[in-house]
Amino acid sequence: MIRLTIDNQPVEVPEGSTILDAARQLGINIPTLCFLAGVKENRPSCMACVVKVGNDARLVPSCSTKAVNGMVVSSETAEVKAARKAALELLFSDHLGDCISVCQRACPAHLQIPETIRLVAAGKMTEAIATVKENIVFPGVLGRICRAPCEQGCRRRQYDGAVAIQLIEREVADLAGKSYVPACAPPTGKRVAIIGAGATGLSAAFFLLRLGHKAVVFDAAAQPGGQMRGKVADKVLEADIETIRQMGLEFRGSSRIRADVVRREFDAVILAVGPNTTGLGVDATERMIRVSPKDFSTSLAGVFAGGTCIRAAWDPARSVGDGKVLAESVDAFLNGREYRLVIKEFTSTIPKLTTEEYQQLAKGANSALTVRELVSEAEKAAGRCCHCDCRAAHDCRLRIFAEQYDVNPRAFSGEHRRAFQVIRQPGGVIFEPGKCISCGICVAIATQAQEPLGLTFVGRGFDVHVAVPLDGALADGLQKVGAECVKHCPTGALALEHDS
Ligand code: SF4
Ligand code: SF4
Ligand code: SF4
Repeated sequence: MIRLTIDNQPVEVPEGSTILDAARQLGINIPTLCFLAGVKENRPSCMACVVKVGNDARLVPSCSTKAVNGMVVSSETAEVKAARKAALELLFSDHLGDCISVCQRACPAHLQIPETIRLVAAGKMTEAIATVKENIVFPGVLGRICRAPCEQGCRRRQYDGAVAIQLIEREVADLAGKSYVPACAPPTGKRVAIIGAGATGLSAAFFLLRLGHKAVVFDAAAQPGGQMRGKVADKVLEADIETIRQMGLEFRGSSRIRADVVRREFDAVILAVGPNTTGLGVDATERMIRVSPKDFSTSLAGVFAGGTCIRAAWDPARSVGDGKVLAESVDAFLNGREYRLVIKEFTSTIPKLTTEEYQQLAKGANSALTVRELVSEAEKAAGRCCHCDCRAAHDCRLRIFAEQYDVNPRAFSGEHRRAFQVIRQPGGVIFEPGKCISCGICVAIATQAQEPLGLTFVGRGFDVHVAVPLDGALADGLQKVGAECVKHCPTGALALEHDS
């Protein structure tokens, strides 16, 4: 047996083990991309798994360095972390993919746009409204009065017009909104006062109710809705609010509130007041409190604030988005947890596409449509979506490590970039060369399975890439182990067409 220490922890491993084996035995998480146990001969290429051995100046890849008696390994030092980060940033210098679609990134209320569109295209309206309501409680309202920055960002816009995302959102609300009431967690016994029944306050109420808390919303007006009322037909607004009522919303209209009394009687208070705060009878000095941009907590314990009262102007989509953040932050407070607002998820971004590249992307449109008669305008609009999000965004190891190591995907980007290409094969395997990190895992799997043609590396230096020998089609190269390669590809370079 070999005895060594990693991060000051002693470990014993069989002869022939690598440092990575020993680290895994200790439960130490070392990132790997090009390594696949039992399949691939270890020829490290990604360098994400480097560690420091003793006082050596050079860092070594842990997946291919054998453990030796008495070795002292460090896997968590600042130097090691910086080297891993640089290795990942180098991979991104040549990486071409949108983890999250541009349209979704532009939505202030964080609607899961491509996912919703795929469900609409498949005629799954019940699932579509559930997906929409994961983030947007007022799809009927926003489907009519939002400025729709998502459509400004849509990749199709520069070619033949944006996908009608707002229309899709509206129709999902109109067709399926009324019957949708989400399940709520068992009652927690906690009570939250929400001051202001506009987009922010009511959104916060929705998410708090879903988490099992009691939500009591106060407003100076007799009806809930705040600034949304009058901007859309009452029946549209009421249809969106109805879901929250069904979940147990307690609305106290025409209220004049004493902030100190409310603070005494409730476990937490949310200030979601509009510009006409004094109409609510809230003491004007309460408006001078400081609000943390991190979690919307204020300088008053147990009091939170968001929406228009902390923003320069009313934006209904942003107000709706603030409501969810407020509910999550208050929930964390009620449970004694720390809340960390994830402002931005990691995403790699494709720059503007050329016309030829767009044509490649557009081949993905209609792919989610089943062969049936389209019944609504929303379904027709959904058929134009190119599904720009990455099929592997939820489990791509490159992206996961990029988040862990705070990677800047443009740290090493130069003027030239790869051409965008999507290779679709019968059987549903999709190959996006721009996302391939040349890890060699698929080549090794195909070789091990003795695929008749298999895969190989072609090109040299920076131009090296995976291909089927003799310019064959991908389906020819991967006749037996296509799904296996998709499963082990560490990025979204190999994916199944409908796996998203
Ligand atoms: S392969 Fe990974 S890093 Fe690349 S676009 Fe897809 S999710 Fe993002
Ligand atoms: S084509 Fe679809 S996924 Fe792509 S940006 Fe437009 S709406 Fe979003
Ligand atoms: S396509 Fe093959 S070589 Fe490229 S990242 Fe995926 S598994 Fe690795």
